[in-house]
Amino acid sequence: MSNFENSLNAFAEQKLASLEAKNQRRSLFAMERRYGMDIETADGSHLISFTDNDYLGLSTHPDVVNAAIEATRKYGAGSGASRLVTGNHPLYDALEEKIAQIKGTESAAVFGSGYLANVGIIPTFIGKKDLIIADELVHTCIHAGMALSNAKTLYFRHNDADHAAELMAEHRHNHPHAMIIVDGVYSMDGDIAPLIALGELAQKYDAWLMNDDAHALGTIGSGRGSAHACGAEHLVPLQMGTLSKAVGAYGGYLAASKPVIDFIKTRARSFIYTTGLPPGTIGAALKALEMIESNPTLTARPTQLAQHFAKSLQLPTPETPIVPLVIGAETDALAASAKLAEKGFKVTAFRPPTVPEGTSRLRFTFSASHRDSDIERLITACRKLSLGGAA
Ligand SMILES: *Cc1c(COP(=O)(O)O)cnc(C)c1O
Repeated sequence: MSNFENSLNAFAEQKLASLEAKNQRRSLFAMERRYGMDIETADGSHLISFTDNDYLGLSTHPDVVNAAIEATRKYGAGSGASRLVTGNHPLYDALEEKIAQIKGTESAAVFGSGYLANVGIIPTFIGKKDLIIADELVHTCIHAGMALSNAKTLYFRHNDADHAAELMAEHRHNHPHAMIIVDGVYSMDGDIAPLIALGELAQKYDAWLMNDDAHALGTIGSGRGSAHACGAEHLVPLQMGTLSKAVGAYGGYLAASKPVIDFIKTRARSFIYTTGLPPGTIGAALKALEMIESNPTLTARPTQLAQHFAKSLQLPTPETPIVPLVIGAETDALAASAKLAEKGFKVTAFRPPTVPEGTSRLRFTFSASHRDSDIERLITACRKLSLGGAA
């Protein structure tokens, strides 16, 4: 082995060892997803997942799977090149129209993923003389987008619009443009951003508000997301989200006015310099969005199940399908997750840096495809393990 390889391996091994010592090393596990939330692990055991972001079970819904197969048969497995190079696929137009319709905007742009959307949108509108004020808990890929913009970036305390107002009053006048960035629903806590207060703040200071609805599309506001749930559509000019969670497919989007979307399609680097999504993925997303739009009973179910679970364990009432159970130390959270697996449930322990130090947690997510009996069994298992509010 060359010295080059030796020092490279040594670097990686030493980094892994120090993460291992902090119980922060991560590993992939083998498993197969079946219909609904049933999964099979490599050793053949069956678990019910309460850890997926497939909030409506649409990734394995027969109609969505069929739409993917049909689009693949008709248009092929891949898309060949960037959308601006090979020409725009007809399914893309239908998908973007559907997103705009659900979001109540003039137009929409589909990206390769939510991550690519965030790293593309932010630097397209914000540059190094500008200001970004973001919630301290925004998703990692928003941090990546903000870093690419080189703007001055300040954080307000989680969901604290008054703190955001203080920062705005102090700093806005020094910068030509300003953006406020939040998650519509916070993935690790399940709470909703105060969009009315932040939207009014943005209007007062001529700042542009963007919400990342990765966990909100399909789950709140009759499935239409956080701006709709808060009655704040008129206050959020940049509605971003993903097609990989409740929609059950893959891809990201921005829903906005026509000039904003036209500019994105002309300038956003992560829109232009990457290959378009496979036709099957676009077909699946389109079908799933049609189902979301026409079925409010479906989109209401995950939150109803989460609320029933939380109430049974005397946890605070969630407004979304996400129920965090903060445990504290990494080892304790991992142990709780392992015990739930012994009882037949896949509930991932989330550890730093995904969550703040000392707040390692179990994060339960509920899906419309869970059976009522799955929830009852989970409640029983949690009680036996003394997991819960008044345990
Ligand atoms: C998952 C997630 C993303 C990334 O979306 P992908 O489509 O999976 O790349 C972005 N933002 C938030 C808040 C997310 O939870």
